[in-house]
Amino acid sequence: MAQVFNFSAGPAMLPVEVLRQAQQELCDWQGLGTSVMEISHRSKEFIQVAETAEQDLRDLLKIPENYKVLFSHGGARAQFSAVPLNLLGDNNQADYIDGGYWAHSAIEEAQKYCSPNAIDVKTQIDGLSGIKPMKDWVLNDKSAYVHYCPNETIGGIAIDEQPDFGDKVVVADLSSTILSRPMDVSRYGVIYAGAQKNIGPAGITVIIVREDLLGKARKETPSILDYTVLNECDSMFNTPPTFAWYLSGLVFKWLKAQGGLIEIGRRNQEKAAHLYDFVDRSDFYRNGIAPANRSWMNVPFQLADGNLDKVFLEESKSAGLHALKGHRVLGGMRASLYNAMPLAGVQALTAFMADFERRHG
Ligand code: PMP
Repeated sequence: MAQVFNFSAGPAMLPVEVLRQAQQELCDWQGLGTSVMEISHRSKEFIQVAETAEQDLRDLLKIPENYKVLFSHGGARAQFSAVPLNLLGDNNQADYIDGGYWAHSAIEEAQKYCSPNAIDVKTQIDGLSGIKPMKDWVLNDKSAYVHYCPNETIGGIAIDEQPDFGDKVVVADLSSTILSRPMDVSRYGVIYAGAQKNIGPAGITVIIVREDLLGKARKETPSILDYTVLNECDSMFNTPPTFAWYLSGLVFKWLKAQGGLIEIGRRNQEKAAHLYDFVDRSDFYRNGIAPANRSWMNVPFQLADGNLDKVFLEESKSAGLHALKGHRVLGGMRASLYNAMPLAGVQALTAFMADFERRHG
């Protein structure tokens, strides 16, 4: 089959080197005569996988010593519940920044546990969708934490400003931006991310939690969502998603081999700039996000004539450019450019878009 570039928002493209390695060692992993998914999570061989994955993630993100790294089930949505249950304590208030679909979903879930102070930060800048600067976010002194989503996967809106809210515990849903560039973990109390974009296959979630925030979970917190329990059990309170953990570990090794997050960030910036520049130069395509809030990971774009959407999707698929359909709540197109997407894939996309415009414009 000809080369395909997969622009899916998640589950998303994984590095082909990782898939080949997994394929090669699938039936006989480390000479054990079985696959890694058939051995006990408590075997010394699997514990080695788990420990190496954690260390590589720590190296990549430069996670400070006073942070615990947890690997969990349930995706990012389970964290929409786990965050309030673990961090509220006796407090009934938390600040929730509403910058888009996923941030809003977290607010809806938090309503089950507290009175979230929803802060709408969406704004229009020169007719484009943007986010108010952090200095204009009015937080509540009494809130237990502030939650926000730095990259809205559906809207393609990013908040790249670094959070600095004094002693306030900052919680971030990094599902679609973790590992896409270097970051300062020490600014956050809790970071979480579903794996199926930049980490590995769906089924595992990474949680990075500052250790002084442990031990505060509400009594009714399900043990499986309790950060303290997960930490005490080395993320093996129940049977973890071992195959997803192993594959994530291979992705971390791949990222290191690429040169780590400085190099990955450079590539991601270049890829995104290539696509945005192309869209900006065209009257046929449009991206409605203010430049300061444009995501490097998820680039939504619309055709001037929405009647052409269907034929655009059919033709792009035939050209080996897959999964460009925008999310059902927004329509239009969306190209997700996660770490595994090479620049060549983005160049193939813009070449196709230029050709499509010539033929249909
Ligand atoms: N947050 C963000 C930013 C997401 O992109 C997604 C999934 N696309 C979710 C949360 C929900 O993740 P999950 O399906 O892993 O629960």
